[in-house]
Amino acid sequence: MRTMMQYLFQSMNFRGDATSKPYKDLLQGVGTEEISHVELIGTTISRLLDGSPEYKGRKTDPVDKPGAKGATPLQIALDTSNIHHYLVGAQGALPVDAAGNPWSGSYVYNSGNLVLDLLYNLMLESTGRLQKCRIYEMTDNKTARSTIAYLIVRDQAHENAFAKALESLGVNWGAALPIPKTNAEQFPEVKKLLDMGLQSIQYTFSADDESQAAKLYRGASPSNDGTELSTAVMPEGFPMTIAPERREEFAPGLDKELLALIQATAEVEIATKGAVNQ
Ligand code: MN
Repeated sequence: MRTMMQYLFQSMNFRGDATSKPYKDLLQGVGTEEISHVELIGTTISRLLDGSPEYKGRKTDPVDKPGAKGATPLQIALDTSNIHHYLVGAQGALPVDAAGNPWSGSYVYNSGNLVLDLLYNLMLESTGRLQKCRIYEMTDNKTARSTIAYLIVRDQAHENAFAKALESLGVNWGAALPIPKTNAEQFPEVKKLLDMGLQSIQYTFSADDESQAAKLYRGASPSNDGTELSTAVMPEGFPMTIAPERREEFAPGLDKELLALIQATAEVEIATKGAVNQ
């Protein structure tokens, strides 16, 4: 969320003449991609938490009597490091860190100086990749590892973006900030994506294709992996599904009476529209 907000604010607040547009466009493209990463991470967390209490109560009764050995529907929360997440999150994601601290706008760095902003962004992406490698080593869950691997590779694409932009401004970033070495390329899920070249492409999300980010994101990759950088408007999407209801969370809580109200409201709307159209 920090990278998303930071790059979008840096792009919105960008100042300069027409020749500096590629920098603004690059920030906007990476920032827009980060919105999708928030969605990806939030959905992954939500899907992984969904069903984790393994509640098997009666369909007709959302509030069961305690089961074997006094087990209650949401007992799993008591065995986790962050009970509060289960208490307020209903088996879904929250905009908080692993310790439960809420996300804050004060994390956003936008100095108004392009070189400083780009250096900070490069550091964020490098740190992000490092931390994701650690998270990868914390779990063997396939869904989690698949999301983490994708983000590790995209972080490298973003490192390339900011490194390239710094190089164009004469900043010898490699001497000051050697990119931290990890063994990420040995993770099989990461290797697969690297072989596809996903670390060397940057999306612009520019519907009219007017983005000038390609003026910066091109040529030999700063990662020194022998690849060439290139841009594309956007990656292929993926169909989203709705998670199942969770009776033990009273979510979404559409009981018979509420469903009847929804139906009645829809009927009134249809009738009103019909009257207007006549
Ligand atoms: Mn990133």
